[in-house]
Amino acid sequence: MNTHALIDPFQRPITYLRLSVTDRCDFRCTYCMAEEMTFLPKKELLSLEELDRMASAFIGLGVRKLRITGGEPLVRRDILTFFRAMRRHLDSGALDELTVTTNGSQLHRFAADLVEAGVARVNVSLDTLDPDKFRTLTRRGDLAKVLGGIEAAKAAGLRVKINAVALKGVNDDELFSIAEWAAAGDMDLTWIEVMPMGEEGHPDRVDQYWPLDDLRSTLEERYTLAPLSERTGGPARYVRVEETGQKIGFITPLSHNFCESCNRVRMTCTGELYMCLGQEDRADLRRSLRAHPNDDTALVAGIREAITHKPKGHDFDYARQRPDGVPGGQMRRHMSHTGG
Ligand code: SAM
Ligand code: SF4
Repeated sequence: MNTHALIDPFQRPITYLRLSVTDRCDFRCTYCMAEEMTFLPKKELLSLEELDRMASAFIGLGVRKLRITGGEPLVRRDILTFFRAMRRHLDSGALDELTVTTNGSQLHRFAADLVEAGVARVNVSLDTLDPDKFRTLTRRGDLAKVLGGIEAAKAAGLRVKINAVALKGVNDDELFSIAEWAAAGDMDLTWIEVMPMGEEGHPDRVDQYWPLDDLRSTLEERYTLAPLSERTGGPARYVRVEETGQKIGFITPLSHNFCESCNRVRMTCTGELYMCLGQEDRADLRRSLRAHPNDDTALVAGIREAITHKPKGHDFDYARQRPDGVPGGQMRRHMSHTGG
């Protein structure tokens, strides 16, 4: 291991950075954003050069996996410049994986260039295969375009994993059709429990909460699920569907707590480092970055200091819902801010 490695107070090595490159998005998924969003002024965002310095500083400190997210990362202007620049860390062996989480709307344009930049796998978020439902859920998305993007990604040689947010009363009737579609396209699939982020007091969020234990039991009515021991250091657990060979993941940050093996931190597009998705504690690293344009000493010290504050676990809890319908543990910030 890198002798300068980042180790948090609970002896967890920090090897995974999720970096949000924009707060903007061409969709407005109901569980993620409000209909009317005010986006940040450009000067608040890290520039492409600053994103490079930031990511490179983390890689110098032992981060081996970098996931680019947002907002929608592929709507950030000239983002390919950043991806192309990151390739040097893959080539040098400092970075094991450069990857991206996307809504897929721009994949048809970017797939080949992402491969060129060294990206081997992408996660595409897709919650329904029904075009009308898709438009309602994303408030403006075009399903056909996303499906075309997925095909373009596969044709360019990218491995595609589908992430679907489990929403009771919305996509529970598509549990098998989504699984079968993904299996037929040789794509792994991960279900994500909806998290209480964003608009405070949003009534649907608790109504739509579909615990993944429930989802899993329904899957077992038709499939034989063999648990896999694979761990990614995140809140995902995987099974193999014996009938199709497909891998299905479950991300259950609410009903289970897998914080003990957490290896990751998240950075917002403004350079704030969140040590935990479910906690508000954060460190402003943009200040160190901008105060010393040609010297990363303060930045590296800031990163090290921030990691000493990484908490043991998160605070999400639907069970603490208050009688007025406002979930306890609700995070005020939107998921598009920290990138999920
Ligand atoms: N725009 C990209 C996308 O949708 O893949 C990247 C950013 S998005 C914030 C990252 C992931 O967070 C997506 O898979 C999305 O479904 C998930 N997400 C957003 N809001 C969520 C919520 N309230 N609960 C659970 N997952 C959420
Ligand atoms: Fe945009 Fe992704 Fe949030 Fe949907 S989940 S609004 S695609 S950032």
